[in-house]
Amino acid sequence: MSDVLLTGSAPTRPRFSFEVFPARSGAAALALGNAVQHLAAVGPDFISVTYGANGSNRDASRDLVRYLRDHTNALPLAHLTTVGETRQAILETIHAIMDAGVHDFLALRGDPPRGASEDDPAVSGSLSSLELVKLVAQARAERPAFTSVGRTSVAAYPNGHPLSRSRSEDIDWLVAKQEAGAQFAVSQLFFNADEYLSYVSDARDAGLTMPVLPGLMPVATAAQLRKVAELAGRPAPAELMREIEEAGGYAPELGVEHSVALAKELLAGGAPSLHLYTFNRHERVLAVLRELELLAPVAV
Ligand code: FAD
Repeated sequence: MSDVLLTGSAPTRPRFSFEVFPARSGAAALALGNAVQHLAAVGPDFISVTYGANGSNRDASRDLVRYLRDHTNALPLAHLTTVGETRQAILETIHAIMDAGVHDFLALRGDPPRGASEDDPAVSGSLSSLELVKLVAQARAERPAFTSVGRTSVAAYPNGHPLSRSRSEDIDWLVAKQEAGAQFAVSQLFFNADEYLSYVSDARDAGLTMPVLPGLMPVATAAQLRKVAELAGRPAPAELMREIEEAGGYAPELGVEHSVALAKELLAGGAPSLHLYTFNRHERVLAVLRELELLAPVAV
């Protein structure tokens, strides 16, 4: 599979980006402040901030985006979701984020709030990610001074989203997001390189030209591995699970090893960049990038 096939552009040196989420306590906020300084220092393409995921506070998300903007050199990318919000409220949120100097977004429908199901009218009646991509474009048009900056990204699901009835429907939906104005996609977690590579290849055949950044998370614990399996929609690799459990349930070096092996296959297959889910820690994702020799040498 060629680089051009996967990225839609000429080969470039692999890049990387990170995802963090708002802290839920004062102590966690202090630790996160330290982590993002380390993450920003290695020059990622962007650091994305989740929004309302797992019931987290949306104001905290906006605060973290502003913190990245004001206190690091990294480009912040704000996740936006539509669940439970009116079109007008979402538009106001986008404008508030843009007015704070942040112009890059990941447009999402969003997870159902705790205790709600997909059938809940507040969830099923929400704007889709496709409509949100168009709303971001509208918000940009309403702030003409900002129209030349900022990119809109969307989510992609190598193993399918629970709401999709088939891979082709899932891919058609991703292509529709591109046609609505999305400039790149970030993938859900997965365990095998071929799940991502074959998905992107099929999407290219269906007309997708935008880059799809593969999402990776180096886990430290058995609980994190189970969470990744839930998101990936696939069972966790049995051997990795056994090894982590034999190590007492905590084995960060095994998570790093697995992510490095996966990243090597993805990059060899033409993945344009790596998007690392940090779990608000810098040590493991930086260890992965160091092993892959993607970090610039430290000046002495
Ligand atoms: P959509 O793209 O609107 O739909 C998801 C899938 O449903 C589509 O891929 C498609 O298969 C199917 N589908 C929906 N509508 C149609 C249609 N009309 N026709 C055909 N198929 C359709 N959640 C949060 O709450 N906060 C976050 O910060 C967050 N960050 C995320 C970051 C990434 C990289 C990813 C992959 C997910 C993230 N999520 C987050 C989870 C996401 O919000 C959920 O997976 C949600 O259920 C779907 O959001 P979406 O934007 O992918 O939805």
